[in-house]
Amino acid sequence: HTRHPESNEQIEKVLESLRLDDEKLRQVMQLLEQEMDAGLSPATHKNADVKMFPTYVRNIADGTETGQVLALDLGGTNFRVLLVTLLPQSRVELTSKIFVIPQSIMLGPGVNLFRHLADCLLDFMKKENLVKPGVRYPLGFTFSFPCKQEGLASARLTSWTKGFTCAGVVGEDVVNMLQTAIDEKDINVQCVALVNDTVGTLMACAYKDPNTAIGLILGTGTNACYMEKIGRVGTWDGDYNEPKQVIINMEWGAFGNNNRLNHIRTKYDEEVDLSSVNPSKQIFEKMISGMYMGEIVRLIILDLMQQDLLFIGQRDGYGDYRTPLFTRGGFYTKFVSTVETDEGIAFANTRRVLEDMGIRNPTFDDCAIIQHICKNVSKRAAKLSGACLAVIINRINKPNVTVGVDGSLYRYHPRFKRNMEKCMKNLVNKNIKFKLTLSDDGSGKGAALIAIVADRFQ
Ligand code: ADP
Repeated sequence: HTRHPESNEQIEKVLESLRLDDEKLRQVMQLLEQEMDAGLSPATHKNADVKMFPTYVRNIADGTETGQVLALDLGGTNFRVLLVTLLPQSRVELTSKIFVIPQSIMLGPGVNLFRHLADCLLDFMKKENLVKPGVRYPLGFTFSFPCKQEGLASARLTSWTKGFTCAGVVGEDVVNMLQTAIDEKDINVQCVALVNDTVGTLMACAYKDPNTAIGLILGTGTNACYMEKIGRVGTWDGDYNEPKQVIINMEWGAFGNNNRLNHIRTKYDEEVDLSSVNPSKQIFEKMISGMYMGEIVRLIILDLMQQDLLFIGQRDGYGDYRTPLFTRGGFYTKFVSTVETDEGIAFANTRRVLEDMGIRNPTFDDCAIIQHICKNVSKRAAKLSGACLAVIINRINKPNVTVGVDGSLYRYHPRFKRNMEKCMKNLVNKNIKFKLTLSDDGSGKGAALIAIVADRFQ
């Protein structure tokens, strides 16, 4: 027999805690707006959960930039060196090379990390024939770790994340450390800008679409940045000359750290948080991004199994606690995309995923329920990020606003974008037309653009 999951009241009751109607979303929007103002005001900045760091990037690239720039992109285990050639009419040529950061460097002294980056840069430049006397290339440094910026080319690391623990870097100016390593090797390069990945994404999109005013990342983590009026940035310590604007790196993943989102958090969110390496931090991020979404799905599956609502009558054989289903992190976020790609009743992808999880003969009902769980979890994530984008778009309040987006969750999930847009249509003010654009060349290109603009004004 077959049964539609929506018709099962008990399952619906479990999933009800994940549902967000427009009223709840409007509450979240109001809370975010308050937190944004708190982050921007010197009196409340210290205790605000959304830090709203000014980036010192004041202009978007306008497509007239030309020349050659280098960029470094450090944000995970892979490290990329890029040569970006900007040609007339917004044409861009990219050459890049990926280098591995060995574990010994990730855990060793900071000086060695920056020496390693300089070595990779030199290696790349030799191959590309860029080591020449009399030429000094500007360089943009995408460094996706939390930093308090003190200038375009000056930023202090506030803490390491993503498995890095290099000693002697927290509290230091990372641009200084990089430049010292570059100068030690006599490389003809000047680091002129440090760039967060959200800012790089905004810039890369703005190069093609001048209405771009927001950069969004939906990958391992989530974060956003946007162009703010300087008069609204109480923490601003730079000049008030034209253009009276600056890009704000929101660090919005920390929204909810002050318990502001408790009314929409579920027991699954609490469990994900408690078992993480940073409990009670990055609360918003843990409800949304790639590092956590699959785990939320896994916890719901286990809960339904416990209540005898899933894999009914087939519990024999599922008692093997070494299977991925019973292992923390065992349900990857990419599986959510795979499961949701199934259409119709065959559930070929879902069956494959469940087999990978250690479940041998799922029924039609089981597959339908698993897909239903995935849809609810990813839809909540899309609605939350969409509602928070709507706050920024309404705040910018221009007739056309484009959002540059990057990250594997947004890129590969079959309906994340559609779900975001659907909910944003109700929440964005009617006088504004918005557009979500996938950033094609990523933040490395953006960093290069920022570097070339900075170099021009130096
Ligand atoms: P990063 O954010 O570290 O720069 P990515 O943008 O590639 O890198 O994001 C990596 C995250 O994306 C991982 O947490 C992973 O779970 C998630 N991810 C990878 N592939 C997919 C997919 N097909 N669907 C949804 N999420 C995915």
